[in-house]
Amino acid sequence: MAPSLAAQNSLMWITPRPDLVFVAGQGSWLTDGDGKRYLDFIQGWAVNCLGHGHPALVQAITDQAARLINPSPAFYNAPALALAQGLAQASGLERVFFANTGAEANEGAIKLARKWGQVHRQGAHQIITFTDGFHGRTLATMSASGKAGWDQRFAPQVPGFPKARYNDLDSVAALIDDRTVAVMLEPIQGEAGVIPATREFLQGLRQLSTERGLLLIVDEVQTGMGRSGKLFAHQHAGIRPDIMTLGKGIGGGVPLSALLAREECCCFEAGDQGGTYNGNPLMTAAGGAVLDILTAPGFLDSVVALGDYLGAGLQKLAERHGLPGERGTGLLRALVLADDRGPRLVAAARARQPEGLLLNAPRPHLLRFMPALNVSREEIDLMLGWLDELLADPTLA
Ligand SMILES: *Cc1c(COP(=O)(O)O)cnc(C)c1O
Repeated sequence: MAPSLAAQNSLMWITPRPDLVFVAGQGSWLTDGDGKRYLDFIQGWAVNCLGHGHPALVQAITDQAARLINPSPAFYNAPALALAQGLAQASGLERVFFANTGAEANEGAIKLARKWGQVHRQGAHQIITFTDGFHGRTLATMSASGKAGWDQRFAPQVPGFPKARYNDLDSVAALIDDRTVAVMLEPIQGEAGVIPATREFLQGLRQLSTERGLLLIVDEVQTGMGRSGKLFAHQHAGIRPDIMTLGKGIGGGVPLSALLAREECCCFEAGDQGGTYNGNPLMTAAGGAVLDILTAPGFLDSVVALGDYLGAGLQKLAERHGLPGERGTGLLRALVLADDRGPRLVAAARARQPEGLLLNAPRPHLLRFMPALNVSREEIDLMLGWLDELLADPTLA
């Protein structure tokens, strides 16, 4: 029997949701309470990097749940130690702090930079961030974000986040003064519509930060963990940041995030940072299973190949339907529409019969694609074919 929606008003309203209840997931497919199947190109907002119900992830969580769920963050546990070591080796950033959400990891990055400013830079505390950037929904990370209108929501903002223009090094240099301690950015702006930082911009920021004694913080919550075809998107530019945050894909679907930093940046004292669930073995065991798969020989090569395949297919659709084009890196891509029909396409894709399609329009004039990193070419073809029909539908134009 289909689950009832009678209790839907017991949930605090935060956003409109379709009248669907999802009950199961397998790979790139979700199933609702009526048994209808949906091809999932959202994957929990780039979270389920191995798709739904990956056997190795299910096994890791099941085994760990039976063994030990939470001894307390004040004690070591084996999965957290192993994952910290694996992430440090893979990133070249020596120290790892685990948290539960991307916003919390970014809060940790902001605190670490401010602490470093107190210890090493006479109290410098300002962190230059970027117009249209997105860093989360806590007060500080909303203030660090550059979404239009967000400076007014929940005013007053947390001070200390002057905004520069993305891919404009001069706009960063112009904001630096004695109070500046760090620059923080996404290597690809995700929520803004999959806008990549250029290689020159990232290399320029690295050089500028080093020259002016600033920390370079990369928010890889969306772009990290293989999404771009490298384990971390900043690696495309051949740079090493001072601080990096990870979230979304790192847990394969469970709440896990991480703050990584170069050893020289680590200056927290006892009591500065912590959290009840941080580094619990249940979530870090999931993270360990994810990292093992992403770093297995050939896995990231296949992400690159699948990304190229999806990109070429989207480009063909753009040409057929007279759209501006597609962009992206690896399996984080966007199709730019000529008008604001994104939300109508998303709704029609979901409603299509007999099988639905889950798409995302972070801006009304574009669609974003964040499939599982192990999506198949057949699934990509299916999605492209259905999208082709939707783009041809005059009632959606
Ligand atoms: C999603 C996201 C966040 C916030 O992560 P949460 O887990 O929702 O707190 C922060 N930064 C970027 C770049 C993101 O995409």
